[in-house]
Amino acid sequence: VIEIGQPEHSVVTTCAYCGVGCAFKAEMRGEEVVRMVPWKDGKANRGHSCVKGRFAWGYTTHKERILKPMIRERIEDPWQEVSWDEAFNFAAAKFKGIQAKYGRDAVGGITSSRCTNEETYLVQKLIRGGFGNNNVDTCARVCHSPTGYGLSQTFGTSAGTQDFDSVEDTDVVMIIGANPASAHPVFASRLKKRLRQGAKLIVLDPRRTEMVESAHVKALHLPLMPGTNVAVVTALAHVIVTERLVNEAFVRERCDWSEFEEWVAFVAQDKYSPEATAIMTGVDPKVLREAARIYATGGNGAIYYGLGVTEHSQGSTTVIAIANLAMATGNIGRPGVGVNPLRGQNNVQGSCDMGSFPHELPGYRHISGDAVREQFEAMWNVKLNKEPGLRIPNMFDAAIEGTFMGLYVQGEDILQSDPNTKHVVAALSSMECVIVHDLFLNETANYAHVFLPGSSFLEKDGTFTNAERRIQRVRKVMTPRNGYADWEVTILLAKAMGFEMHYNHPSEIMDEIAALTPTFTGVSYAKLDELGSVQWPCNEKAPEGTPVMHIGGFVRGKGKFIVTEYVATDERTGPRYPLLLTTGRILSQYNVGAQTRRTENAVWHSEDRLEIHPHDAEQRGVRDGDWVRLASRAGETTLRAEITDRVSPGVVYTTFHHPDTQANVITTDFSDWATNCPEYKVTAVQISPSNGP
Ligand code: SF4
Repeated sequence: VIEIGQPEHSVVTTCAYCGVGCAFKAEMRGEEVVRMVPWKDGKANRGHSCVKGRFAWGYTTHKERILKPMIRERIEDPWQEVSWDEAFNFAAAKFKGIQAKYGRDAVGGITSSRCTNEETYLVQKLIRGGFGNNNVDTCARVCHSPTGYGLSQTFGTSAGTQDFDSVEDTDVVMIIGANPASAHPVFASRLKKRLRQGAKLIVLDPRRTEMVESAHVKALHLPLMPGTNVAVVTALAHVIVTERLVNEAFVRERCDWSEFEEWVAFVAQDKYSPEATAIMTGVDPKVLREAARIYATGGNGAIYYGLGVTEHSQGSTTVIAIANLAMATGNIGRPGVGVNPLRGQNNVQGSCDMGSFPHELPGYRHISGDAVREQFEAMWNVKLNKEPGLRIPNMFDAAIEGTFMGLYVQGEDILQSDPNTKHVVAALSSMECVIVHDLFLNETANYAHVFLPGSSFLEKDGTFTNAERRIQRVRKVMTPRNGYADWEVTILLAKAMGFEMHYNHPSEIMDEIAALTPTFTGVSYAKLDELGSVQWPCNEKAPEGTPVMHIGGFVRGKGKFIVTEYVATDERTGPRYPLLLTTGRILSQYNVGAQTRRTENAVWHSEDRLEIHPHDAEQRGVRDGDWVRLASRAGETTLRAEITDRVSPGVVYTTFHHPDTQANVITTDFSDWATNCPEYKVTAVQISPSNGP
C-alpha cells in the first residue's frame, strides 16, 4: 500500500542551480517529486546539499510556468496562444524575413548556462549552421568570460585546474572576490572543514564575507577598494619577487624563462610595493606582505575566485595576475594547489565548452581554423562562416544602429541580468523579432514577439558540467509539462528555418560532441552511467577523465607569464557620486531569482538591501531599515538600508535577486577590455534618504 507522500521510485540527477553540481536522488511518486535527497555517491557533493537544491525545485510546477507557445506581431499587442507548429513557423518566417531584408548577420542567439550541454550545443549549431553566422554568445559573457581568456593565455585551457577533492591537500586557501558560503555552499563546507583542520585562510574582498566571519578560523582579510584587484594581486607578486620567495626550480622547468624575467622586472617596480599601492587599494601594507609570505611559503596554496575578479574592466588582467602568482610559487599541477574559478551557474562551464562564444567552436577552437571548421562542416553538412560573430553587447549596439534585428534567447533573462537596463531596453525595442525560450514570462519577454515554453531540469535528459570540469548526467524524472524538452524545441525551430537536425535522444548529441571535440572523445552516456561522472579532458590519454590539470606540463606547453599593468577603471567617484557600489548574493536566492522566488517557502522571502557603513550612513542621516535612493550616472533605484561595518567606509553593497530592485538600472556600460564582461562590481553612486519606491 502506498501512503500519500511515500515515493515509489527514485532517479539520480544533478542540481540545476550553482556550479558545485550536487547529485540528487529525485524520489518520485508517479510523475510527482516527493522529495530531493542529496545522493551519497555524488562525487561533487558526497551526500550534502544546500537549501536551494534540496527545497527550491517547486518552481518546476509553479502556476506561472508558461506551457503553451505564444506569438504577437508587436510588443504592444496581447500575447496569443498558438500551436507549436504555428509558433515555429511564425518565428522562422520572421527570422528569414529579417535575413532577406537586412542580411545574413542580422540575427543571432544566446545560449543558456542553465540548460544542458546538449541543448547548448544545438543552439550554437542552429546559429552557425542554420542562421549562417557566428552571432552566438552566452551568459558567461557577463560572468566568467575573463576566466576563459586569462587561463587560456597563461595555462592553455579555459577552465579551473583542480577537482574539489584537491582542497583536502591544501595548506593555504586564498579566496579572491568570491563568497562561497552564499554562492557555493556545499563546497564552502569542504573549505571550512579543511580550515578547521589547520589550513590558513586569506580573503581578498571589499566586504567582510561569511568566510571571513566564520567562527572557526581566523582569516587574513584584505578589504580592498572595488576595482583595485590588479594592483593588489600585483603587489602580492611584488613581495614574492623582492623577498625572493619565488619557486625558481618550478619556473625554470615549467615556464618560459624570458617571459618570467620580464614579469619579474615589471612587478619589482616600486609603484607595485605594498606601501605604494596602499593609498589606492586601501589595503594595509603589513597585512598584504603577510598574505604574500603565507601564500608563497605556507605549503600547498590554492586560489579560489569568483565574479569579484571577473566582472571588472580589468577582469581578464586579474585572472592573468592570479595565474602568474600560482606559477611563480609553483602552486600548480598537483593536488592541493591551483587556480580555481568558482563557476556561478550549474552549466556555465559546459556552455563555454560547447562553443557558445562567437569566435570558438566546441572545445575552444577558433572559428577561423580551416581544419577544425572543415571537420564541423563535414559532420553538419553545411558551409560555415569563418568570421567571429557578435558578442552580446555588440548585438545590443547593432540593434540600436538598425543592423541586428532578430534574437533567439534560451533560458536567460537578459533584461534583468545584463548591465545598463536602459540600453538593453533600447536594443530589444529596436529588434523586429525576439524569441524568448524560457520557463516563465520573464522581464525580457516584455520585449518578445515569440514565447517558446521551456522545460525544467526535471523534464529532460542531458548533462551538466560543474566548476571542476565534471560532466554529470541530468535525468528526466517527469514528462515535459510543456510538451517538449528544450533540445527538441531547438531542433523543431531549426527545422522550420530549413536546417534539419536529427537526434532521437540527447545521448546521440553527446556522441556527436565527442566525435568533434578532442577533450570529450572518451565521453558517452554509457561511461557516465558506469562511472557516475567524468572530468574533461576525457579521451584516449585520460579515459577516466582528468581531476587535476597541468601535471608535469601546461596544456599550452610552457606556462606564460604576462605583465599585468594596473589601469584604474573609468568609473570614477567624485563629489556627485562619492561611494562605490559592489554586488553579491545571499544563500537562499539564486541570481535574478526566477526559480527561487517561485518556490513556496518562507526561506525564499527576502529583499535586496543596501549595506552601508555606519560612518557613511550617519553623514547622510540614514538609519537601519530606512528607504534610500541609490543613484548612479546610469540610473537610480530605491532599497532599504542595512547599516553594517561589513563594508568599508566609501563602499556600499547590494544583492540583485529581485526584479523590483532593478540593481542593473544603475550599473554602467564599462566592461573588461578583452572579453566585454560587464563591470558589475564597481559603480560610483550616491545615496540619500527616500520615502520608498
Ligand atoms: Fe545545488 Fe549548488 Fe546548493 Fe549544491 S550547493 S545543492 S549545486 S545550489
